[in-house]
Amino acid sequence: MRLSKLASEIAESPTLALNEEARILRERGESVIHLGIGEPKNKTPISAILSSAAKLTSGEVKYTPADGTLSLKKAVIRYTEENYNRQVAPENVIITNGAKQSLFNILYSLLNPQDEVVILAPYWVSYPEIIKMCYGKPVIVLPEDGSFQPRFEEIERAVTGYTRAIIVNSPNNPSGAVYPSELVAKLADYCERKGIYLICDDIYHKLVFDRIIAHPAYEFSKKDIEDSHILVVNGVAKVYGMTGFRVGWVVGPRELVRVMTNVTAQTTSGVSPVSQAAAEGALNGLQSVVEAIRLQIENNQAVLLQEMKTFHGARLIKPEGTFYALPDLRAFNGNSVELARFLLKKALVVTVPGKEFGMEGHIRLSVSGTVKDVTEGIARIKWALDPSSPNEIYIGDKKMIRDWL
Ligand code: PMP
Repeated sequence: MRLSKLASEIAESPTLALNEEARILRERGESVIHLGIGEPKNKTPISAILSSAAKLTSGEVKYTPADGTLSLKKAVIRYTEENYNRQVAPENVIITNGAKQSLFNILYSLLNPQDEVVILAPYWVSYPEIIKMCYGKPVIVLPEDGSFQPRFEEIERAVTGYTRAIIVNSPNNPSGAVYPSELVAKLADYCERKGIYLICDDIYHKLVFDRIIAHPAYEFSKKDIEDSHILVVNGVAKVYGMTGFRVGWVVGPRELVRVMTNVTAQTTSGVSPVSQAAAEGALNGLQSVVEAIRLQIENNQAVLLQEMKTFHGARLIKPEGTFYALPDLRAFNGNSVELARFLLKKALVVTVPGKEFGMEGHIRLSVSGTVKDVTEGIARIKWALDPSSPNEIYIGDKKMIRDWL
């Protein structure tokens, strides 16, 4: 079949591929533990259910403005005031089908062929693919010291005359790192001066631990939103655990929002009003639901850290936010794709190879499931890899003996 060169070169989403493998194993009755997916376990917040149910039962489920309903935009405006200390107008906000579409839409609206976008490793898997889908070139900055904290000088060195944007995701998927406010401040100042867009993917911004704060870039810019190069991407997927509703948004200058609205109008026509009503319900409802998710994740991360202490050979930088941890498992296998396959085959644990995030030799673990998933999952991984761990384990009701170390 003759397909578009560009589309054929887009990589399959590795997380979705692993989910599929795990689903098949589960259907076969295997006791699979999923440390792959990043999705809180909570039920949809009640305020979101009620608000979307009301929309549905009204029977008035029609097209909405492509850039989103005014009432959801107002909820986003309030959220922006409360969390970013910024007053913005409805024209500065566009509602999208998840934060993923926000990112696509921004890049599609900004990039000309061969324009460059700087991304900071470890980075979310989709960034390079979305950039390529918009005919851009991803430029990856890998911290030289093996940490998960990029240095400003390294980022500055990656910038060329073709750089249109820098994407910052802090708290970070996949490492759980929160970038220090000095770095965010320097980036904000640099981007404003150079006219480079600073795309802040803030999808995990409230999921932080130990009173760490992910300082928003807006804090470090005095520019009016219409002149600012800071763009904020956010959504209800992670902080409210509403991944299936597919609602995200962008806050930015109205000229960009206008172009993004045209792109939306000619592609998806916008987000389902039922989902928009749900997001509005979540944003306007009781915010204790967010704290409940954050606490559950903080607890699971503490359990993970405890379990990892007895994992000889693994090196882990403590996550400061998100449901992810990215241990360095090079002591066992430098090839993370092989390692993830091995862990699925031998230990029936789903993980994601660090290679997909630009960090070969690492494995991403997600603790968004139950405490039992975390403890059992790590025990199985230790059993499969660490010769100093007991060589017998129960996987489901099968007693397994390690005979390969
Ligand atoms: N950005 C990051 C860093 C993410 O991890 C994700 C989801 N995994 C998204 C964006 C996309 O979020 P949404 O589900 O709202 O499209």
